[in-house]
Amino acid sequence: MAAFTSSLLRSAVTIGALAPFNPLKQRNPFRLLHSNFNLSTRQCTRRAISSVRATHDEEASAKAAATEANTGAPTIFDKIISKEIPSSIVYEDEKVLAFRDINPQAPVHVLVIPKLRDGLTELGKAEARHEDILGHLLHASKIVAEKEGIIDGFRVVINSGATACQSVYHLHLHVLGGRQMKWPPG
Ligand code: AMP
Repeated sequence: MAAFTSSLLRSAVTIGALAPFNPLKQRNPFRLLHSNFNLSTRQCTRRAISSVRATHDEEASAKAAATEANTGAPTIFDKIISKEIPSSIVYEDEKVLAFRDINPQAPVHVLVIPKLRDGLTELGKAEARHEDILGHLLHASKIVAEKEGIIDGFRVVINSGATACQSVYHLHLHVLGGRQMKWPPG
């Protein structure tokens, strides 16, 4: 599992590093495993001058959320894990919880999160010790896709950091499907 995860993470980071500027992330959350850490100045400039941008609100909320990112403060997802607030649970095991996104961007939109955050406020904080849980999350995403009847075509998205408009600082995978996705995503 560790080798599997390591290989997937390498692929994801490679995709992010090699891909040309992708306007997708600026407007909607279907941002395939594109963690936006390590943006070069040139990439940032290209993002800034792009006509396809996140809304001002989306950027502002993401920046506001980022100020609490590394304080270790609990997030709304802690309350979902503890069942203090309700959620529509799709799948659960000893390590992960999958529940429907409150603001779905596709007919199927499920969030898969680790029950124990263990420093994983965002993918950009992942360390070697997290390989098992990262693999577990990906496998759980596949189980969710099966359960939701979208195994023939689905998308997994991780927004990492304010530039990617991450809004909740507890690592989560968006599992999206049930409609035709576009590429470049949009
Ligand atoms: P991100 O922008 O990648 O950090 O995604 C956070 C996601 O959490 C968004 O898609 C929100 O709609 C979702 N979300 C926030 N609060 C809740 C909640 N109480 N129940 C379900 N999903 C939520």
